[in-house]
Amino acid sequence: MEPEIRIRIADELLMFLPAARRRPRQGVAHGGTSTLGHIVESLGVPLPEIGALMVDGERVEPGYQPAAGDEVAVLAVPRPQPVPLDAGEVAPRFLLDVHLGTLARRMRLLGLDTAYHNDMDDPALVVQANEEGRVLLTQDRGLLRRRALWFGAYVRGSRPDDQLRDLLGRFAPVLRPWTRCTACNGVLATVGKEEVERELADGTRRSYDVYGRCTDCGQVYWRGAHGGHLEKIVHEAVRAVAAARTGADGAGPEGSGAGVPETPESAAS
Ligand SMILES: [Zn+2]
Repeated sequence: MEPEIRIRIADELLMFLPAARRRPRQGVAHGGTSTLGHIVESLGVPLPEIGALMVDGERVEPGYQPAAGDEVAVLAVPRPQPVPLDAGEVAPRFLLDVHLGTLARRMRLLGLDTAYHNDMDDPALVVQANEEGRVLLTQDRGLLRRRALWFGAYVRGSRPDDQLRDLLGRFAPVLRPWTRCTACNGVLATVGKEEVERELADGTRRSYDVYGRCTDCGQVYWRGAHGGHLEKIVHEAVRAVAAARTGADGAGPEGSGAGVPETPESAAS
């Protein structure tokens, strides 16, 4: 019988295992040359989702060579998960995989620096993420296995609501709602209504207040008189971040600079 190592996998990571092997305790036959990182990845868990690898209670690196009889624990990343920030930065920058366009727009609504293109292949995504120091968000496990990737994270959930909640719980980033262009990720500059009045339709001119113009693409944004879909997204996001920071469940301070957002629309469609 081949020697075996015993691996205990955190509940949060079981989703990465094929259904037939989805159990927290695994016995893995070990021939002696594979690294522990490779063995765990072979089970289906991408390395960026692993918070720590422990052997007999001691932390080891993915390059550790396990020995027969080792008791391994695979821990999930902590929530919130720290991200190295440049001087002056208050929140991580992100790059989203091609299928996450709705999530990208919501993150921009919240003021997160979110790069997104609907036509990039995997190597190009890794290059941009690394060059610009962006956390790469994806639902492609293969992408997360790329060794060159600086910082990646798997996005849980199929609905944008769930994806956003997962992202906010994972990184608890500082939010600056209503400060970025949802179309292009540009920063909004405050503009007076009179500056853009001619670009607005009559109904808009009467009922809405302009709050920003994109400094990159020129799109104008305004908020209406009544609460709407986007306001609800912002409100729930602020709560989710507060909850993630305190570890509480849904409780926490509200507002955090969001003001009293109303329904935003944009002059260009
Ligand atoms: Zn723009």
